[in-house]
Amino acid sequence: MPVKQPRPGELDPIETASRDEISALQLQRLQWSLRHCYDNVAAYRKKCQDKGVHPDDLKQLSDLSRFPFMTKSDLRDHYPFGLLAVPREQVARLHASSGTTGKSVVVGYTRNDLDHWANVVARSIRAAGGRAGDMVHVAYGYGMFTGGLGAHYGAERLGCTVVPMSGGQTEKQVQQILDFRPDIIMVTPSYSLVIAEEFERLGIAPQDISLKVGIFGAEPWGEGMRGEIERKLGIDAVDIYGLTEVMGPGVACECIESKDGPVIWEDHFYPEIIDPNTGEVLPDGSEGELVFTSLTKEAFPVIRYRTRDLTRLLPPTSRAFRRIGKITGRSDDMLIVRGVNVFPTQIEEQILRDARLTGNYQIVLARDGHLDHVEVRCELQREVSGKLPPATVDDIRRRLQHHIKTLIGISTRIEVMEFDTLPRTQTGKARRVIDQRPKQL
Ligand code: ADP
Repeated sequence: MPVKQPRPGELDPIETASRDEISALQLQRLQWSLRHCYDNVAAYRKKCQDKGVHPDDLKQLSDLSRFPFMTKSDLRDHYPFGLLAVPREQVARLHASSGTTGKSVVVGYTRNDLDHWANVVARSIRAAGGRAGDMVHVAYGYGMFTGGLGAHYGAERLGCTVVPMSGGQTEKQVQQILDFRPDIIMVTPSYSLVIAEEFERLGIAPQDISLKVGIFGAEPWGEGMRGEIERKLGIDAVDIYGLTEVMGPGVACECIESKDGPVIWEDHFYPEIIDPNTGEVLPDGSEGELVFTSLTKEAFPVIRYRTRDLTRLLPPTSRAFRRIGKITGRSDDMLIVRGVNVFPTQIEEQILRDARLTGNYQIVLARDGHLDHVEVRCELQREVSGKLPPATVDDIRRRLQHHIKTLIGISTRIEVMEFDTLPRTQTGKARRVIDQRPKQL
């Protein structure tokens, strides 16, 4: 399929600027953002005072490492409005995180913030190959979750025709895609598979689906999943990254021409990678925890916000900005099984090495006495489900078990189930891990 390359003049000038120009803009904006947060957010000012630092100490970008971090618990401690840097009356909209990892946190946006957000999402859709006039089907959930409305206003800003479908009602989603013939879909990768299965059920081949590009994010997904989605929907699958605390979707997005990790829109979000244990800043290329400082946000500035997402900063390729590698997982998604650190996406990668298995899976953790047991439940593809002799199914099971043991280092019990046995997500992020182990006190 031909990949759309940006034409000259289509990109924002900063997307192709020199590193010096980018750094100069970042420094100027960082000084503003730090001062804005210090002057208007009492809780952050106190943290700075406790650490003996002041915004005037930031003379160059690297000085940022002297400033205190913000964490999710700061947001929870000051729930709901304690970290707003503008009077509530100037807040044009509120959103909340989906609460995947505990109580939700609330964030606010001024009119200018919403404007910047729409611009970076528009830029993201363009990076993914979208252009004015394209039709965009948004199947991220609308509501307090940032996915739906974030995608929506970005697509409108780019000049697209937006279909604000939201999540769920899979049959209707598919009917509408067939009737309206959108070019682009924006949805979580796990729900895109549910949509793909509905097309399969109706006997519609990937080449007969109008979609050309899918922009997927809000949860971790690996290269195996990319291949699976691209094959089933006949599209290019592009990765978009974001989080509520920093803005929502569109903090970073992959370029369709390189598909080599989301490009961070560094003129709005300043990234660092730190050692999650010591907090020390690590050089580009090292694996660690991603930390963001907002450079333009008014209502809810974040300074050195610890995302808990583990990844690396990679050098620029298709744009002048740095990229993030695939998010291996969140530090709080990490499973520790008999002392071995495991991310669900590592297991996903091994499952999807076998083309007879789907990307729907579950990991069940249980404890027997003092030992953890891991069961991986996966599913056969529709084409082969119910048709394979037991010996073949057993072979699939044993191969997967062997790959997980030799490449990840944990022993698992594998259950290969028939197609459509595991629950499907209807609203967004998939629940991959079921932890039945007793809570440690
Ligand atoms: P919650 O923290 O409740 O899930 P959000 O909806 O704000 O709230 O989710 C943001 C998180 O989703 C990110 O911190 C990251 O862990 C995950 N995420 C978002 N986009 C991606 C992506 N493209 N790849 C991997 N993980 C992602």
